[in-house]
Amino acid sequence: MKTDLTELLQKVGNEADIEQSSRISFADDELILTQPVKTKLHLVNTGTVVLVKGKAETEAELECSRCLKKFKMPLSIEIDEEFALEMPAPRHKKGKEVELHEEDFVYPIEADNTVDLTEVIRQDLLLALPMQALCSKDCQGIKSQKKETK
Ligand SMILES: [Zn+2]
Repeated sequence: MKTDLTELLQKVGNEADIEQSSRISFADDELILTQPVKTKLHLVNTGTVVLVKGKAETEAELECSRCLKKFKMPLSIEIDEEFALEMPAPRHKKGKEVELHEEDFVYPIEADNTVDLTEVIRQDLLLALPMQALCSKDCQGIKSQKKETK
């Protein structure tokens, strides 16, 4: 899912609202999406980074952890990321290299002025998945299990 930032990058302070809809499929079926991912994003060129904020919506196919039925579940995620205009040089403090903390992590902007949101969306979607997927709140589980309780 690539987004072209050419216009946004022309001037510091430029802002853009971008709506996209694209099908994303993930490797090794860790997450099966049954609908395209619709994104509504607000982008700001701050001079050092491009701020990307907004929402993404899609629908995933999950397997109920009680009855093992497959069911579809709408997913909605918040996106709040920064893309670096230039990759930050290693930081130095009193001559020593300082480790980059995770919150300092920023995604790069490609040489062709695009950013790829696929990885951002993949990670946010995986975080949005329920710990225990249930087809309905009061799923009774697999019916045949009742036989065991005579
Ligand atoms: Zn179920």
